[in-house]
Amino acid sequence: MRRRLCFAAAAALSLVGSLARAECPPAAGDCQALLETGPTGGRVDFVVVGDGYTAAERDKFYADAAAVAADLQSASTYASYAPVFNVWALYVPSAETGADDPSTGTTVDTAFDATYGYQGIDYLIGVDTGGVFVEVNERFPERDLAICIVNAPKYGGSGGPVAVTSTHPDSLRILEHEMGHSFAGLADEYETPYPGFPPGDPEPNVALLENLDPLKWNAWVPPGTPIPTPLAAATSDYDPVGAYEGARYLSTGVFRPSPKCRMRELGFDFCPVCSEAVVLGFSELRYLVDDVTPAEGAAIPAKGPSLVTAVVPALEELGFAWSVDGVPVDGAVTAELTLDPTALGLGDGAHAITVTVHDTTPLVRTDDDGLMTATFTRTLVVDSTLPPVGGEGGAGGAGGAASGAGGAPPDGDEPEKEDDGCGCRIGGEPVGREGFVFALAALFVLRRRRR
Ligand SMILES: [Zn+2]
Repeated sequence: MRRRLCFAAAAALSLVGSLARAECPPAAGDCQALLETGPTGGRVDFVVVGDGYTAAERDKFYADAAAVAADLQSASTYASYAPVFNVWALYVPSAETGADDPSTGTTVDTAFDATYGYQGIDYLIGVDTGGVFVEVNERFPERDLAICIVNAPKYGGSGGPVAVTSTHPDSLRILEHEMGHSFAGLADEYETPYPGFPPGDPEPNVALLENLDPLKWNAWVPPGTPIPTPLAAATSDYDPVGAYEGARYLSTGVFRPSPKCRMRELGFDFCPVCSEAVVLGFSELRYLVDDVTPAEGAAIPAKGPSLVTAVVPALEELGFAWSVDGVPVDGAVTAELTLDPTALGLGDGAHAITVTVHDTTPLVRTDDDGLMTATFTRTLVVDSTLPPVGGEGGAGGAGGAASGAGGAPPDGDEPEKEDDGCGCRIGGEPVGREGFVFALAALFVLRRRRR
């Protein structure tokens, strides 16, 4: 089942290059910040816990968790979105090491009671997900995805509400696969029987025979591709995207998009359809626009250019468009808008400056929920009594306005909290308000969204 977890607010990685808080919140207890690209809640927050790590194995847990964080920054689809990931590790002591394993008669006392042989399948590891959530929600409630590393070397994992892996040499590949379930709602594409598993094709990467026309991933299918698609038609491990028979624990009657895929075999990347689902999964959990500077309600001079800047995650494929009072600004296609009120015919008073940011990644072709586009509106006040930018007097003026380039904060050292009129939105949905104070040159209160 696809999970909807928790969510987003924001930071300014592309502007600052360093972050205000690169340490765990006090409530997290014995915790390490393994990767932080923005404030908690403003990014996809992975929280890693371990089971079967004794007090003497605490350092081993953090080393294993660090390997997970490193992998998220290097594994194909995940690496593309590493600029929006935070990874936190919470140490949870177990009385004994390892995991239960009915196949060997092993029973140990661990924090989350991990066991192989879950539902009768030897490699399937079950954990006490309720216990994991109690622990994680208490210590790190902003988590988006909980990952549990089971301190046992036997191959195994599972992809339910908690993504579970072991310490087997393939554990990172297993975890990438399991997160495909936990994060993107993907189905397994392998054919190994899973007795009793409910039939159907609700996941984005499988289709029953009766659902091949139209095919749910049709945007990826080249014209002329036969449907169903015989393996003989394949030109590579992933091409052409079509409908190859065999998936979701059955060899017949269920179809998958590509010959190979991480959801079918560990030695391969995600197929294009699964990769798209993973990216959309990330996109539900973070913002495309963290903030806009200057601050809400700041005054700017009527004459001369003032710089308005969209603060965004350091993603590579972002496109920008700006408008002022609903009128598009020609040629404004970067994260910065040079705003000259006089040139635009803007009189004194409040004006709405809106930036639309679109993640143009080629990994996504179908975005029914508008997750790849976000808008943010900032109200600025044109004030002809302020000295012109570059003119006499420099910055300053009534109201302690930001003046000129750079989005300097209002006078004073206190954080500038935005008012209730913020127009921050993502995917067409209003963004909820929750406080996160983040220090750049100024401090901004950021927001995160929950569903
Ligand atoms: Zn796939």
